[in-house]
Amino acid sequence: MTLAKDLSHLLSDEAKARKPSPLKTTIKYFSDPNMIFLGGGLPLSDYFPWFKVTGESPKPPFANGIGASREDQELINFDIPRNINEIAADEEFSTISLDKALQYGYSQGHPQINSFFKEHNKIIHKMTGYEDSDVITTIGNTWNLESTLRCLCNKGDYILVEEFAFSSTLAAAEAQGVKTCPIPMDADGIIPEKLDEILANWDEKVLGKFKFLILVATGSNPKGLSLPELRRQQIYDLACKYDFIIIEDEPYYFLQVGEYVPNKEERIPLDQVESLQNQEAFVDSLVKSFISIDTEGRVLRFDSLSKVMGPNTRIGWITGQKNLLYHLLKYHEVSIQAPSGFSQAIVAKTLNTWGQGGYLDWLMGIRKEYTIKRDFCIDSLHKHIPKRLFDTGAVTVNPPIAGMFFTIDINSEKHPLFKSKFDSDAKKLEMHIFDTVIKEGVLLVPGAWFEAKDYTIVDKGGKEEVKKTIFFRGTYAAVGLEKLDTGLERFAKVLDKEFS
Ligand code: PMP
Repeated sequence: MTLAKDLSHLLSDEAKARKPSPLKTTIKYFSDPNMIFLGGGLPLSDYFPWFKVTGESPKPPFANGIGASREDQELINFDIPRNINEIAADEEFSTISLDKALQYGYSQGHPQINSFFKEHNKIIHKMTGYEDSDVITTIGNTWNLESTLRCLCNKGDYILVEEFAFSSTLAAAEAQGVKTCPIPMDADGIIPEKLDEILANWDEKVLGKFKFLILVATGSNPKGLSLPELRRQQIYDLACKYDFIIIEDEPYYFLQVGEYVPNKEERIPLDQVESLQNQEAFVDSLVKSFISIDTEGRVLRFDSLSKVMGPNTRIGWITGQKNLLYHLLKYHEVSIQAPSGFSQAIVAKTLNTWGQGGYLDWLMGIRKEYTIKRDFCIDSLHKHIPKRLFDTGAVTVNPPIAGMFFTIDINSEKHPLFKSKFDSDAKKLEMHIFDTVIKEGVLLVPGAWFEAKDYTIVDKGGKEEVKKTIFFRGTYAAVGLEKLDTGLERFAKVLDKEFS
């Protein structure tokens, strides 16, 4: 295996200028029993007001489903003690005592959690492309992007984004003065040929440098799209050709629910789907990630526990080449420092007690739940939206194969009053439908909120084109099946009226 490529030319001026926090360099002496450590403002753990944290969680293999009530689950009980010397030797790998968890230090995450994520990466992504990869534990993907923008981009630099991108990504870039170049998408996500065309014609004198492509390759937000493996390889090859970094922001990676089968009779019962019963089949069924095909160290992968364990665990991790992670870590040291010690201690204890296999069981359970919800949601859309709207192309639903979002695409030109009432302005119609469905008591969000601004057109003195297709993003994650059905029925009623 080889070492990752030196990509330090892609760092921001700020990252290049930032020196390691000198105090942080002394922390390694803190655990040296022969060192009388008077150097840092570390409060004595005797003054931490907790003696122990006690936890209870379901026990793998979660035979009754991951959503089963406490009474229907086998349980695991655990204690996280205050002092490291209260931990049995065989529990040291799993337990971060509170004196350590709540103390400064371990900006990259405590070894008990970091090593779990590294091991998990090996199982899922193999990562045989280059030697010097690493993992830092973080507070989730929102922060991962914010800090990566700071470390890679100067004001005025470009990033490449999906045509419809996660709104916080766009907001974070805009606030930092980083410009976006949207890459066109079809039903399979961004189109490699279009990316190639845009970059082949990139005028660096006018537009400056582009630093990275950020994409949600699996179950994208908002469109719920997933890139096929071939496209992933093509896009990766373009990253090597045009020298940019790929950021795969993958909070939905494990929600790979497979193809939607319209006819219920033809669906394989979920208890007979091998990849929902068997860990090896589950791992094999997962689409290849960008990090798994990376041979040059030009992928940064963002993982998060938000969608699989709980958003405010605020735990995620970044995987990538050591040198790039070093710069991110230096920034973390002077900003977030580290994820909350309570969170790290509880999550590390839970995951290590479950073991890697137990965590896979959990992820399989999540996948099963979302498969049920996705199928129900798409069935329900077809039940409630009048068939004539699909037949005339007024409405399109592209069933997602991953994630928790679906979109209802609307062809504004099919609206009978598009010209007369809405001045042929798709955005006006979109806001009208949005307001109307809210009055009906259901909320799906307009696609316009996710539309990436094309600064290349602005920079070249042109005017952005207004899209004619509009869409609404919904999720099947947030409510139970009954409410989901009622919500979609209300939405469909509005569409029926509007397009009659
Ligand atoms: N990226 C995407 C694409 C998301 O959809 C979300 C959550 N909505 C996030 C990042 C935020 O993740 P986290 O909770 O880990 O900050």
